[in-house]
Amino acid sequence: MAGHFFALEGIDGSGKSTQLALLAQHLTQAGVDCLTTCEPTQGPIGQLLRQVLTGQVVCDSRVVAPLFAADRLDHLLRSGGGLCEAAAAGRTVLCDRYYFSSYAYQSVDLPLEWVIEINRPCAQLLRPTATLFIDVSPELALERISQNREKPELFETRERLTRTREQYLRAFDLERDRERVLIIPGDRDVEAVALDIWNSVSALLQGL
Ligand code: ADP
Repeated sequence: MAGHFFALEGIDGSGKSTQLALLAQHLTQAGVDCLTTCEPTQGPIGQLLRQVLTGQVVCDSRVVAPLFAADRLDHLLRSGGGLCEAAAAGRTVLCDRYYFSSYAYQSVDLPLEWVIEINRPCAQLLRPTATLFIDVSPELALERISQNREKPELFETRERLTRTREQYLRAFDLERDRERVLIIPGDRDVEAVALDIWNSVSALLQGL
């Protein structure tokens, strides 16, 4: 039987990577075989994208969006470690960011419908069982980021994070007939958010 796939989403500093690790712990304790991963990947396109995000490489957003889609296709299909292969083998895949992050971040500069369109092949290959959106205020996210980074990444300004959060909500609305999205209030302590995520995921797994 194919395994499940949960994508964690949210603006930078929303607590995705913290919650991904906790969800993996909970699932593992419940006997579920998990693969945890993130985007951009460590592959060659992903490494280039990391340089774009830190400003080391300058690239037009019309190029960045297809690069993300290409990195995502590689992530899905690469042999030995690809997400499709893991899900087909019955593993439960947890990913820190998937195509909704492209919809949200890249549609600040580009038409949202186009960003969705170039990611359609990914959706056809592997659609999340659920996308878990950790919703934090941009102010709180920035506060957390500034405590953790010497230098924020390019998108980590209050204005960008505010626009990105709005685009996430627009994308969820646009895709509401195709995608299962759970919105998790994130302006709370780590344990409260983790419990909410765990309750949502276990309810889903029992109901499927
Ligand atoms: P993201 O992966 O979404 O960018 P992280 O999980 O890396 O976010 O969290 C960013 C920072 O905020 C980390 O230092 C983390 O320890 C802290 N953090 C995460 N969740 C919370 C929370 N609920 N309350 C307070 N601090 C948090």
